[in-house]
This record gives sequence, structure tokens and C-alpha cells, in this order.
Amino acid sequence: MKGLVAILGGGESGVGAAILAQKKGYEVFVSDLGKIKEKYKDVLSNYKIGFEEGYHSEEKILGAELVVKSPGIPETAPLVKQLKEQGTPVISEIEFGGRFTSAKTICITGSNGKTTTTLLTYHILQKAGLNVGLAGNVGKSFAWQVAEENFDVYVIELSSFQLDGMYEFKADVAVLMNITPDHLDRYGYDMQNYIDSKFRILQNQSANDYFVYCADDEVIQKEINKREIKPVQLPFGLGEAAGPGAGVRDNRIIINFNQNQFSMSILDLSLQGKHNTYNSMAAGIASMVLKIRDEQLRESLSDFTGVEHRLERFLKVHGIEFINDSKATNVNSSWYALESVHKPVIWIAGGVDKGNDYTMLQGLVTNKVKAIVCLGKNNAKLHEAFGDCVADIVDASSMEEAVKAAYYLARNGDTVLLSPACASFDLFENYEDRGNQFKKEVRNL
Ligand code: ADP
Repeated sequence: MKGLVAILGGGESGVGAAILAQKKGYEVFVSDLGKIKEKYKDVLSNYKIGFEEGYHSEEKILGAELVVKSPGIPETAPLVKQLKEQGTPVISEIEFGGRFTSAKTICITGSNGKTTTTLLTYHILQKAGLNVGLAGNVGKSFAWQVAEENFDVYVIELSSFQLDGMYEFKADVAVLMNITPDHLDRYGYDMQNYIDSKFRILQNQSANDYFVYCADDEVIQKEINKREIKPVQLPFGLGEAAGPGAGVRDNRIIINFNQNQFSMSILDLSLQGKHNTYNSMAAGIASMVLKIRDEQLRESLSDFTGVEHRLERFLKVHGIEFINDSKATNVNSSWYALESVHKPVIWIAGGVDKGNDYTMLQGLVTNKVKAIVCLGKNNAKLHEAFGDCVADIVDASSMEEAVKAAYYLARNGDTVLLSPACASFDLFENYEDRGNQFKKEVRNL
């Protein structure tokens, strides 16, 4: 028997790591300061893995040879600090999983667009017949799949919190969508710390690996200029592609890789809007690196059905289109949402503000938005930022009220857009709950 692996956090990633650790012959113990969901308790019991909830048995955990920490637990948690001080390695589930597989990995990070690009890439590879797994923030945890599946390739969505716990892991293809301020509370309110965290996606890469990134993102460009980048660079942007990578010419996306050139009309992409052109280009480049044929790539980029709660056009009522973009939990993603709508907008916004600066939205709101429905416990900041930009701005304290108010304000040909720019925890369980309630209330109209 090898030594003890202690797992902090009994969610999807922790349980996956526990199963893998057990399979590899470690003694395993799962500890969660909060509650562990019933379904995970059942799994742990079935595998005969010991666990505790509501507290940490510190002495036991401090005696572990390795600790796998859930990305939800901050580095500043007292126990984590203590472990690090005494020299115990504290790693993420992805790092742990990576130690036991030689599958190729496409890793996708960024402030926005991760899930969409991850699912799109997965869709393309799977349709092309590759033996591919989907992991990270979406679906089953990476470590769990490493323990029980036998995939040749993984498409992995990585948050900055996961990257923070990664040291030896290497992505074969690293994809960086964009970097805009987010989660700064976890990074000492220092943007550079957040940038450094995102750039960990490049660590351990060599000249045989690939780095796909958005060339239009100034933060990324500036950081690249400061660093020595070892992997092959494959930038994408809305300008013309000068060399390898992707760009746009005459309303077509063009992807250059090795001696191949792929081209497709933007109108044929299933995901519409500028931000989605970026997402399609990023997924397209990654797929070409994996040698997906042109016809297959074209078909998959045009038949992808999109992802729930992300600019989801789900219903029209009396000529009014309703779009559910509940996943827009920061200002930047709402900017792209507003940008992508070409009809007068009734905008439902608000929730828990993570230190938002709304200035960048004021121009778009003035031009496109007829009315705002503020859906949060505290809407003062929205009134202050947009009171002068729109004809009507009203408050709602439940989704039912918000949808009714928006419907009342909308006319035939308008769009009602739920794109809150805020987290959902004041009135909802999470963004899925918010989006589902929105759809339910719209169906009830
Ligand atoms: P993430 O997983 O990074 O949170 P998602 O794919 O879930 O990203 O999209 C979150 C929100 O961000 C969506 O509501 C969408 O409107 C917006 N969005 C999607 N892709 C991009 C992008 N490339 N740039 C900016 N915003 C985006």
C-alpha cells in the first residue's frame, strides 16, 4: 500500500480523484468542510472510500503524502496554508489525473467562452470518430475518466483555480480564449496574478506543442510579448490571418495549419455573434491540429446545437424573441450578448455584482436597449450606470415579475435578453436555476 492521499472537497472532482487514487493503490480519505451530496456519498460508500463532512480531521490530513484540493477551496484556507508551509504537495484533480494517462489533451481556458469552445471542440472530434473524453468543469471529472475509461484524447475546460493547482501537467494543445477581469477577489485584487494563473496553461509545453490564443486580446498580446513562448503559436482574430492560425476575410473564417487552408462562410456557422466566431475559430484550429478533415470540420461547425443558458434562443411569443444568457455572469460576456442582438432589446440584468464597472456597456445600451428590468436584491448600481441611457428602467424581485415586466415593455419584433452581468446567488441557486426559471416563466406567458 502506498501512502495516504487526502482529498479536500467531496464534489465531482474530489470523488473522481479519490477513485483514481484508490485504483492506483493509495490509501484514500475524502474530507469536506461543507456537505457532500447524497449521490457522491453513495459512490464513496460503494467504493469503500472513507469520508467526512462538516469538518476536517486536521491531524490526519496533515499526515498525508499528497493532498488533492477542489478548485472551490481558496489557497488562503488555513488548512491549505498549513499544508503548504510544512511542504505537503497540494495539487488539483487535473494534475493528479494527468499523472496517470498518456492521452493527448486539448485544454481550454479564458475568462469567457470556455464551456462553449470546449463542447464545440468535443463535438467536432467525437463526430470525426476519435475516441475522445470531455472533462474539466463540464461533465464527469478528468481523474474519474482516467480511472475508468480509456480515451485517446481529452478536451478539458480549465478554470484559473484548476490551473493554480497544476505543476507538472502539460497540455498538448493549450487554448486561451481571452483575459478580462474576473474572480479578482481570489487574486488579491491584482490583475497580474490572474493573468499569471491563466498563462499556467502553457507551463511545461515544448516546441512540439501548440498554443492557440486570441490575437485581438490586448492583455494576452502584452503578456506574450513579455514571455518566451516555446510552443507553436496559432493565433486567431477577426482580422486577416497572416500565417498559421485563423482570421476572417470577406465574411469567411480562414484557418491555416501546416500546408492546409480551411475556409467557411461565417453565415454557415451554427454559433452566431462575434464572440462565437472566436469560439468557432479556436475549436477549428484545435481540430485541425488533431488532423480532422475539412468536410468533417465544416459539417460540425454548422450543426452544433449550442449550449444551454448561453445566448440560447429558445422561444418567440407574439413576435418577441426570448434569449436566455443566464451564464453571462460578468460585464464582458453581457457586452458580447448585447453586441450579438440586432433588434431592440429589453434587457434583464442584475444579481450579485462582483465589483462590476458598467462603463463599457453604456454605448451599446444607449444604442440597442429600449428598457432595462433590474433583477437583483440591490439594483442601485444599475440605475446609476444606465438611468440616463434608456427610456424605462424598472425593478423586479423575482423571475416571474421580471419576465412579466419585460413582456409588458416589449413590442412585436423586439428581443428580451436575460444576460445579467452578475452572479445569481442573491435570488437563485445558481445560473442554471436562474435560466430555467426564466424559461419556465416565458413559457407561462
Ligand atoms: P465560460 O465557460 O468561460 O464561463 P461560456 O461558454 O459558458 O463561458 O459562456 C459564458 C458567457 O460568455 C455566455 O453567456 C456568452 O454570452 C459569453 N461568451 C461566450 N463566448 C465568449 C467569448 N469568446 N468572448 C466573450 N464572451 C463570450
